[in-house]
Amino acid sequence: MTRYSAWSVIKNGFSGQKNWSRVWRDPEPKSEYDTIIVGGGLHGLATAYYLAKNHGMKNIAVVEKGWLGGGNGGRNTTIVRSNYMMPGSRFFYEHSLKLWEQLSHELNYNVMFSQRAHISLLHSPAARDATARRYNTMRLTGTDAEIWSLDQLKGAVPHLNYDNARFPIIGAAVQRRAGTARHDAVAWGYARAADQLGVDILQNCEVTGVRRGNGKITGLQTSRGDISANKVGFAVAGNTSRLWQMAELGKLPIESHKLQAFVSEPLKPLLDQVVVFGVGGAHFYISQSDKGGMVFGGDLDWYKSYAQRGNLPIVQDVCEAATSILPCLGRVRLLRHWAGVMDMSMDGSPFICKTPIENLYLNAGWNYGGFKASPASGWYFADLIANDRPNPVIEGYNLQRFERGVNIDERGAGPDPKLHG
Ligand SMILES: Cc1cc2nc3c(=O)[nH]c(=O)nc-3n(C[C@H](O)[C@H](O)[C@H](O)COP(=O)(O)OP(=O)(O)OC[C@H]3O[C@@H](n4cnc5c(N)ncnc54)[C@H](O)[C@@H]3O)c2cc1C
Repeated sequence: MTRYSAWSVIKNGFSGQKNWSRVWRDPEPKSEYDTIIVGGGLHGLATAYYLAKNHGMKNIAVVEKGWLGGGNGGRNTTIVRSNYMMPGSRFFYEHSLKLWEQLSHELNYNVMFSQRAHISLLHSPAARDATARRYNTMRLTGTDAEIWSLDQLKGAVPHLNYDNARFPIIGAAVQRRAGTARHDAVAWGYARAADQLGVDILQNCEVTGVRRGNGKITGLQTSRGDISANKVGFAVAGNTSRLWQMAELGKLPIESHKLQAFVSEPLKPLLDQVVVFGVGGAHFYISQSDKGGMVFGGDLDWYKSYAQRGNLPIVQDVCEAATSILPCLGRVRLLRHWAGVMDMSMDGSPFICKTPIENLYLNAGWNYGGFKASPASGWYFADLIANDRPNPVIEGYNLQRFERGVNIDERGAGPDPKLHG
């Protein structure tokens, strides 16, 4: 495996780019692994990497029914932030952001993490008060956070609709260390680094059944044959309920909804930050990719489905939000839009936990915010699988919290994905 460096770029330039080695192997499935992670998205690949790297585990496979990053991992709007107040989320997402800050070096792969700032627009004194409480808590606990006046905001983002907006802008809450990354590069980077540590990455390998005996996991049925395993971790995002049913575990507090993303034709540099607003039922976020496309999105499609495509009413909704906040986009052409299948949990928070089957572990419920979580999710899921107990940081990320009414996220919006969308 070639280590990427300026020297390897120059050397391969002299040999016509013909001597690069494969980025990861394409092995045949073995009949048995110590640990199998189901799902070759960001969370599954990160978990396999940290199992091998942090815990020295060997004989690991990642099984993926399609191709790496073909799920939500390669379909999201790539916003990375850690602007949470309550301890259940704050420590986890700050750990994730710190991992992001080192990720390109750690993986020897450029994930194009760009700390360009995350700007949440404020539209009322009440919103400013609530946000000040949250951002002050962040500052007091070691996360960067700022509240900007309207003049500061105008100086930094001059193109917003300050004169005639449906919801007038009065300032902004800002996390400067937040930003964006290139999503498929993250999948490829983790895959390459995991492969280098001996992890078998098995694409086109769909799990079709879960084998168990005496209350313990024993292996998986897959489209490429049966594979035995001592430990199995599910990290299949919007398909979690399907896998859960294969394991005959009943119902999960998860619904699969669609979320769409949009990209415009490339423009000259227009927006140097991630800008977000949520007010009066509208929800919108936008940034500009390195290629110049405006990348944006809004709410869920509001009905349950496993299809990776969305519907036109949301296109209208999101484009209205875009032009209300950035009227200069009115004549820009939309290049593409697509959808991913979100694993929406009933309280908007995730699961990294054991299951009723011994040695079967669950990683799910990332809603529309699991991209930023992927490094920490892999880190703590690997820790759980290796040690068979949750790290204190993720102690509440279990299925029993609904029996006890434990609140992880500060929104406390209620038991329905629609309230968290
Ligand atoms: C449009 C959109 C915008 C988003 N924007 C953001 C954002 O800005 N910031 C943010 O933090 N998050 C965002 N998210 C959420 C984020 O993308 C997800 O929470 C996260 O990617 C989910 O984890 P994953 O990458 O592991 O999932 P996935 O990439 O979906 O991985 C799961 C994998 O499991 C595989 N699988 C499923 N069933 C089986 C089976 N039976 N056998 C084998 N493999 C199987 C799937 O093929 C898939 O590759 C967004 C999501 C979408 C769709």
